[in-house]
Amino acid sequence: MNISKSIVVVNSIISDFTEIFVQRLVFRLNRLHKPGFTIIIEDETKLSQKCLEILNTLNSPFMIVSDIKQTPFYSVIPNVLPLFNQSPYKYMLINRERKIEPDIFQLKMDRSLNLEDNHIHTQMAFCNGNMDAEKGIAIGRVSGIGKMRFTEHSSQMYIPFHNFTSRDYYVHGLSITDKADYRIDNYLNLKRTHESDFIEFGLELDFDFSGKPIIYEQDLKHFDYILGAMHMIPEITPEAFLKQLEMVVTHNIDVLAHPFRIFKRNGKELPVKLFKPVAKILKESNTAAEINFHTNEPPEDFFRECLDMGVKLSFGSDSHNLGELGDFFYHLDFLKSLGVTGDYDKILWRKK
Ligand SMILES: [Zn+2]
Ligand SMILES: [Zn+2]
Repeated sequence: MNISKSIVVVNSIISDFTEIFVQRLVFRLNRLHKPGFTIIIEDETKLSQKCLEILNTLNSPFMIVSDIKQTPFYSVIPNVLPLFNQSPYKYMLINRERKIEPDIFQLKMDRSLNLEDNHIHTQMAFCNGNMDAEKGIAIGRVSGIGKMRFTEHSSQMYIPFHNFTSRDYYVHGLSITDKADYRIDNYLNLKRTHESDFIEFGLELDFDFSGKPIIYEQDLKHFDYILGAMHMIPEITPEAFLKQLEMVVTHNIDVLAHPFRIFKRNGKELPVKLFKPVAKILKESNTAAEINFHTNEPPEDFFRECLDMGVKLSFGSDSHNLGELGDFFYHLDFLKSLGVTGDYDKILWRKK
């Protein structure tokens, strides 16, 4: 989709969640790169003519017509079309180049699929957008998912904000931290306040270069969902990656976060030759592989290996914003491209 020639039409704040679902729509549209014009309306085809007229007169970039609070992304032309008036927040993409053959989507997941969001941040993440545990829980409840798991970065619970991208902690571990910077108790408080059958609090666990978790043992024991992450490794080479992974999986992690993302992040080529060995390590250590689209493109061929070997897959929104939480539109699409169109229970990781 050519975003510069797209229009999203939203009328008014109908529910408390409208703005969040608009944010979700914006995220989705930014990820879809289909050519041609697109208009989004609900199921009122007679109004599409009106949209086309508006579109024709517009020369502006991506636009949302709305009377909700103005943001840089939104323009306000109220009372154009009714939309987002009720769950599951259906919308329609109309591709003008294909004439009008609308695809209808919904912004909410189908509850019967019982999808779980196993990677969600909180207001405590230094890299946070507008995420907030309490609001996130409210969004999670209306997003059609079966479970949500918060997973804050373990290293960020001990290091100061101004230093959180420093490599030093990965070299030296917690020995160079200062107690005054510790925030793990605040996170444990969030956990105590909010956990329920629907909500778990785990960690996105970082590991230093010697393979030790960046967290104190007495703090780690409070968590029984662990998402293992490799945000920094000694060198961005296939050999160093494999070596670090072998250490990471010995720590009883449930899921490996965004496998291979570190290569692209550092401008390196994807180590295709590692797909098979990594899948094998995950299988042998009973670790699931995360499908994660947050600033990430999961490598299809790696996930094919995982499916072949019976490695369980885990959905993570990696939400740093409320609009991302529990949105598995791309995840389901990705599974479809791998040939999985149903029976998700067979391939998705579930907590024992
Ligand atoms: Zn991560
Ligand atoms: Zn994360």
